[in-house]
Amino acid sequence: MYRISDVKLEVKRYEYYETFHITGSSRDSAENIEIKLLLDDGTEGFGEASPSYRVNGEVVSALVALEPTIKEMIKEFDVREYAKIFKIMDGFSRSSPSIKAAVQYATLDAFSNSIDLPVYKILGGSKDEIETDKTISIDLLDKMVQKAKETFHKGFHTLKIKVGENLKEDMEKILAISDATKGAEYVVDANQGYTPKEAIQFAKFVHDNKINVKIFEQPVIWNDLEGLKLVRYNSPIPIAVDEGVKTKYDAYRLIKDDCVDFINIKLMKSGISDALSIIEMAKTANVGLMIGCMSESSLGITQSVHLATGTGAFAHCDLDSHMLIKEEKFRGKFTQSGSKLIVR
Ligand code: MN
Repeated sequence: MYRISDVKLEVKRYEYYETFHITGSSRDSAENIEIKLLLDDGTEGFGEASPSYRVNGEVVSALVALEPTIKEMIKEFDVREYAKIFKIMDGFSRSSPSIKAAVQYATLDAFSNSIDLPVYKILGGSKDEIETDKTISIDLLDKMVQKAKETFHKGFHTLKIKVGENLKEDMEKILAISDATKGAEYVVDANQGYTPKEAIQFAKFVHDNKINVKIFEQPVIWNDLEGLKLVRYNSPIPIAVDEGVKTKYDAYRLIKDDCVDFINIKLMKSGISDALSIIEMAKTANVGLMIGCMSESSLGITQSVHLATGTGAFAHCDLDSHMLIKEEKFRGKFTQSGSKLIVR
């Protein structure tokens, strides 16, 4: 009982309903890796990696080749002692964080199945539902306005608006969207696209026009901490770091250097182990937390939904990638009602 006897990695390709365009990337499909752990009594545990070349430098073909290595490293370990498996997988933090995340989650899932207790309860059971935003990707102004209206009227109270490719157009777009969706809240994400000066101009524009932006994500390139700090000190709206924080060490440096109002945790950057460390660090330092995703299917989004409900740590959730996927057999261990993701 409880011991890992086999590990399988399998590539799954998912087509999107429409092109998803952000600063520096445009895609029509996702290629994820499903992890299956088998325990010696036949119990299974599942996880999903959604690798990112843009953020993590990950390449799917290289990751799948890790199967025998990972199997060798974690075989025979007892999933009730999951901290030991987490520690082994921490070694993959730099080379393949999405695989680390998926194996760590699959371990919790196998443990959860063995003791018949959902993962969110193993992680603390803080709440049993969360609310997600939905993302409006970069497009022509009219199309973004149309999409924002449709999404808002479907019950998504918070819209995440992608910006960062053209400051002047971004200002026109956010103004037009806010006029068309009165009562909505917004998160804007520049995906590293602005210079510090542009980012400050954008933040002031949003504020001066009384647009209800609650978080401004990754205004500048990930490694420009001085630029980030300059933006934060001159921005009337809270600044979040996404691409600039992967491990707990990144979070520590950002907090120590007073660079950030919010940290966007993604399991695909941090895995469960560093996510839990970042949560405690941020809470201690009074830094806000949000949770995001890469291109996970419903299986992968399950991981973040259980982390978010279990810890209850996130002021904002951006867990919408499964909604982009066409013709997926829903495999989430949650249900969805509009913008609500429910685990009970
Ligand atoms: Mn982001």
